[in-house]
Amino acid sequence: MTTVEEVAPDVFLAAGTDVNVVILRDGDALTLIDGGYPGDVGAVEGAIRSLGRAPEDMQGMLLTHAHIDHMGAIAAFHERYGIPVFTDPTEVAHARRDYLEQATGKDFIPMLHKYGVLPWLLRIARVGATRSLSVGDAQAFASSGPLDLPGAPVPVATHGHTSGHSAYHLPQHGVVITGDALVTAHPLSKVRGPQLLPKVFDHGKQDTVSALDHLAVLDAETVVPGHGPAVFMPIAVAVEQARERSR
Ligand SMILES: [Zn+2]
Repeated sequence: MTTVEEVAPDVFLAAGTDVNVVILRDGDALTLIDGGYPGDVGAVEGAIRSLGRAPEDMQGMLLTHAHIDHMGAIAAFHERYGIPVFTDPTEVAHARRDYLEQATGKDFIPMLHKYGVLPWLLRIARVGATRSLSVGDAQAFASSGPLDLPGAPVPVATHGHTSGHSAYHLPQHGVVITGDALVTAHPLSKVRGPQLLPKVFDHGKQDTVSALDHLAVLDAETVVPGHGPAVFMPIAVAVEQARERSR
């Protein structure tokens, strides 16, 4: 049974394997933001069906960024149902796998003795972490303001974790979906609460820190991260905590 938390009206947080997906609802229509690992497709579909909807009800799918733990169900539903996939203009080539900005197995070998690494690697291997995945016809957002999709998410460029990472702001609900620009927990971190990911995951550490500036100015008191639970605090406070912990 997939647990789905309604973190704000018509904004749902569901869990894949150590990673989050978000579903926005507008009447019968849905937007999916991120899609877990390839092995999380069933869980994401279960979350959609628990809302009395089907994957075909999605009018579009959004990637915060093109890491495999965020692309699983998105690639699958795109293939099965032809639902369009949108991301930041800079991230499109990454989603197409013209290049890869993600840590791979060899990056973790020197870390195997560290907190949480081995059980996490075994867990994610079972859900397809080592598979190669791409969305060949991912598209750039049509506009920079609210997107013409259920929930009207507003992209917020937060380049750093990947070169074209995007958060999504829902101004009408005071919600920000931060993806991996800011998380609240991770199996490789002993800390709970707003933080950056362990640096092995970030393509550009300095840019990841700078990108926090773009989050801090948003009007939002519900923070929905790519990893860890939603937290209910002003995003500026969450950013400050993440900054402190990254020092
Ligand atoms: Zn990532």
